[in-house]
Amino acid sequence: MTKHLNYLTVCLFACMLAFSSCQSPDSNRQESTQDSTNSYTPLPASTDFDVVILNGRVMDPETNFDGIRNVGIKDGIIALITEEDIKGKETIDATGHVVAPGFIDQHQHCVDPYIFRLMVRDGRTTIMDLEHGAFGPKVDEWYKKREGVTPVNFAVSSNHEAARAHVLDGFNEWKFFNTPDALWWRVKQGWSKTRPNLEQGNQILSVLDEGLRMGAIGIGSTTGYMREGVSPRELFEVQKLSALYGRQLGLHVRGTPGTDVQESNGHQELLANAAALNAPAISMHFNNPGYNLVHELLVRMREQGHNVWGGLYPYAAGSTALNAVFLDPDTWVKELGNKYEETVMDVQTGEYYTQESREKMLKTDPTRPVVVFKMPESAIVEWLKLPGVAIASDGMPIYPWDSLKWDTPYEELGNAHPRSAGCYAKAFRLARENDIPLMQIVAMSSYNTANPLGKMGLKAMQVRGRMQVGMVADITIFDPATIQDNATYAKGTLPSTGIPHVIVNGVIVMRDSEPLAGVNPGQAIRFPVEEKSRFEGLNVDTWKSEFYVMPEHFGCTSELDAAVEEHQH
Ligand SMILES: [Zn+2]
Repeated sequence: MTKHLNYLTVCLFACMLAFSSCQSPDSNRQESTQDSTNSYTPLPASTDFDVVILNGRVMDPETNFDGIRNVGIKDGIIALITEEDIKGKETIDATGHVVAPGFIDQHQHCVDPYIFRLMVRDGRTTIMDLEHGAFGPKVDEWYKKREGVTPVNFAVSSNHEAARAHVLDGFNEWKFFNTPDALWWRVKQGWSKTRPNLEQGNQILSVLDEGLRMGAIGIGSTTGYMREGVSPRELFEVQKLSALYGRQLGLHVRGTPGTDVQESNGHQELLANAAALNAPAISMHFNNPGYNLVHELLVRMREQGHNVWGGLYPYAAGSTALNAVFLDPDTWVKELGNKYEETVMDVQTGEYYTQESREKMLKTDPTRPVVVFKMPESAIVEWLKLPGVAIASDGMPIYPWDSLKWDTPYEELGNAHPRSAGCYAKAFRLARENDIPLMQIVAMSSYNTANPLGKMGLKAMQVRGRMQVGMVADITIFDPATIQDNATYAKGTLPSTGIPHVIVNGVIVMRDSEPLAGVNPGQAIRFPVEEKSRFEGLNVDTWKSEFYVMPEHFGCTSELDAAVEEHQH
């Protein structure tokens, strides 16, 4: 019985992001989360500030404030916003420029030194890997490795895919602790295709729980890469675990990439679970077929009080590994109607694959990065008009990354999907070219991520994403007339331009478009470490007392059936 009990203990998992609000013109605005946190008294204009930003167009997406002001920063805080003259130790002339909350990227898979200059050049002051994340037991190490050596703020979730690779394939070769390690664990396939039995399921959940206990920002799951292995029950249990901590699941949904039916159903799975669990959730990169329905689902759920949001990047192509399950001919060619020679491009060489050359490469370098074209260019501008959504880059490691450093010249960097370097500046450029209101993109770049994360109780995000007195001075200063991306599919590492100055935690990290070496004020964005785990393993007895019948397709069905049979006797 005991042995079968182990088998029976059930389990499962999921992922995603973003958010939405309403149909009114004012729809970027949500109820403020700052009441309890913002008791800050503005400092007088006579203060000797650390940094002053003069004559800029200050834009605050929470209050819709938009006016020419001077900004005084003291001890890392926006201490005064005023029309009076002010002085400080350092002065930035922002005449003709927008002074916006620093851009917050909830979906950046590369949080390593060689990418930091590109992040700052694109105006990003916080980067978070919330779709994938770090291997649960390594979350603390992941954070510690970056403290004091990172110019931007950083965060990570607890990684479902890594937990599965560890439990189902025995993977244990951690180097980066987060997404880049997938290059090695994805060589095997158990993480993608195996349905865990009850014992394995409990192990996977325990690994994820360890990350949450150590302060990870929710759980990230790439269920779209694990369509066969992750049952609906597993995904639900993963969301339930994150909900136990009041945190979100960031999900690459089951059907992505897919048809409008598959895509929409994947988000519906995530959001139905979120509703049942009263849990936060992120529909990651829903810039795919069915996006307008997904957006309405998010908007309506938010109107009912659910903390669910969505993210997207303004590009027609995605990026993944060559051996992704959805790139197999049955799915990519037969089901979705794509041709490899028109849609699957090698990141390093720029050449397109054929079915034959893909199969050949799978034998020698199965996890090679590729760019995959999947949406019409015309859809991009429509995405940027969707209220309440977060811009999120899904930025990828540069390939190859061996021996890259903070100051490796841009032209000597390898290649990556251009969203890694140009995501935010591209959104502003497209908004300018297509008459989308500037405040809409300012909100999408900052507040629309900070607000839902703050509502989850993440204090660091209750005081960011806003240009208000008392908020943390993460600030991006850009020229709305010239801000633009320069990264292309052929050369994805060219930095954005039109963003001359960036401030992180009150410290200037970029001046006159030149990121400053050795200036590393970036802070860890995380929840407090908890002494005790909140997770209790699943077992047959608790399951039956709570739900009366055993789940049918939680793990390995035959083992479950046998165990249930045993249990009933
Ligand atoms: Zn994804």
